[in-house]
Amino acid sequence: MSRSFDVIVIGAGPAGYVAAIRAAQHGKSVACIDEWKNKDGRNAFGGTCLNAGCIPSKALLESSELYHRAEHEFEKHGIRTGGLEMDVAAMQKRRAGIVRQLTGGIAGLFKAAKVEGLVGHGKLLKGKKVEFTSVEGEREIVSADHVILASGSEPIELPVAKFDGERIIDSWDTLELDAVPETLGVVGAGVVGLELGSVWSRLGSKVTVLEALEDFLYMADRDVAKLAAAEFRKQGIDIKLGATVGKATAGKGGVAVEYEDGNGAQSLEVDKLVVAVGRRPVTNDLFAEDAGIQLDERGFIAVDDECRTRVKGVYAIGDCVRGPMLAHKGSEEGVMVADLIAGETAEMNYAVIPSVLYTNPEIAWAGKTEEEVKAGGRPYKTGQFPFMASGRAKAMENTSGFVKIVSSKDDDEILGVHIVGPMAGELISEAVLALEFNASTEDVQRTIHAHPSLAEAVHEAALAVDNRALNFPNR
Ligand code: FAD
Ligand code: NAD
Repeated sequence: MSRSFDVIVIGAGPAGYVAAIRAAQHGKSVACIDEWKNKDGRNAFGGTCLNAGCIPSKALLESSELYHRAEHEFEKHGIRTGGLEMDVAAMQKRRAGIVRQLTGGIAGLFKAAKVEGLVGHGKLLKGKKVEFTSVEGEREIVSADHVILASGSEPIELPVAKFDGERIIDSWDTLELDAVPETLGVVGAGVVGLELGSVWSRLGSKVTVLEALEDFLYMADRDVAKLAAAEFRKQGIDIKLGATVGKATAGKGGVAVEYEDGNGAQSLEVDKLVVAVGRRPVTNDLFAEDAGIQLDERGFIAVDDECRTRVKGVYAIGDCVRGPMLAHKGSEEGVMVADLIAGETAEMNYAVIPSVLYTNPEIAWAGKTEEEVKAGGRPYKTGQFPFMASGRAKAMENTSGFVKIVSSKDDDEILGVHIVGPMAGELISEAVLALEFNASTEDVQRTIHAHPSLAEAVHEAALAVDNRALNFPNR
């Protein structure tokens, strides 16, 4: 007799594994199928995020930042290190160790929650049946009352710069480089390009970033983007905007890149070329033709606001559906869907999803940019507070950047918070909570913030909205 479960999840990235655990918490019998294989040939749960994305990139961002600070900043603190040395192998060993611990942790969480983790390929068939093919090649048809598709995404390949895994590489290859390339080209000044460009630049690569758009960080508030571009350029990252790559040719010595920008035809020689121009949903061999699943015009699995596909009882979540490709967005969709399956009321607030770039300065925002508010026509007011005036930031020797708050003029509601500077990714949580509860600017103004803390900059920015900043001259 074939096995059957209340819920089968295909994909154990941050969307799928969270959905599986939440469904199990509701008392459902759950299986979660995943086929991820690491470069060492080992299977692991956790998807892109834990194996080749969020976690390994943050591990290397931390190591490279410490190296950079030891090289450029320690003397100011009165710390002399003598001959500073870099050990890329040790850095990579640490990165791999963190990944191993966390991915192994998911297997442990599955066990504790009684989720059946199945290693292999899953394919949705007609009638909520799933064909599971184990890594050993054995096939089994498993049935379920509910199926959640959480197959994630993969890097987009450029026809003019095809990945070869050696010279023209994707983000995963870039995370696992075993030596610092003398020169590194990056196509795409998005989140991957800037984070991974920063890692290798801090470790000594001469990094050139080619971005097709004229606007740097088009999705960010303009004040934030302007400051960030200036800071990255100060760090030696050469950002070329309005640059279209015509051809990239890999040879023994490196990659010859031909591109065009506002000044006409240009060429660039680099040791390695990272192509980071976005990701596309994984839907290949995920469902049978007659399973009833439809894709939208961009190739994502078509779902409604509650992540329901066109097939009753089949949901899709995470990077394989519309919306920002972010781990926390996928996880929250997983929670919502598991709650809906359990018969509870659940919804996602897609308007308040924080974005963070773990560069230095760090960049984070939630809610609307000033440009979006302006375009919407609602009268608004803004306040900014620079980290230069923060005692904590000064003590940290990390003062570039600011907190900016955009609020409505009519009822004082906070509409957007934009932070560029130290620990922006942590500070944004206060803004997310404020936005989630439709807080007024005055609510944040009257909230007591610890001193000295970076969070005081959020408090002061809220005060600055009404020209009441206490530790910086008002307009
Ligand atoms: P994935 O994590 O891609 O997981 C999908 C899983 O499904 C994979 O394990 C895959 O093997 C498996 N799968 C697919 N099809 C099948 C099938 N048919 N059968 C069995 N298994 C299948 N986001 C953030 O929020 N913060 C960050 O700091 C961040 N940093 C990033 C850094 C990099 C370099 C990259 C590339 C991405 C980063 N992201 C970050 C994005 C984040 O990784 C994704 O948004 C997130 O992983 C999406 O989760 P998911 O569960 O939808 O898909
Ligand atoms: P992205 O969409 O963030 O950026 C891609 C950039 O490439 C854009 O600026 C785009 O204009 C540019 N581009 C596109 N085609 C180009 C071309 N032919 N030539 C030059 N430039 C071109 O994509 P990404 O950086 O690859 O990241 C993929 C996904 O992973 C994103 O959705 C991102 O949210 C997610 N991610 C998140 C984090 C984080 O949250 N910190 C970190 C890394 C990745």
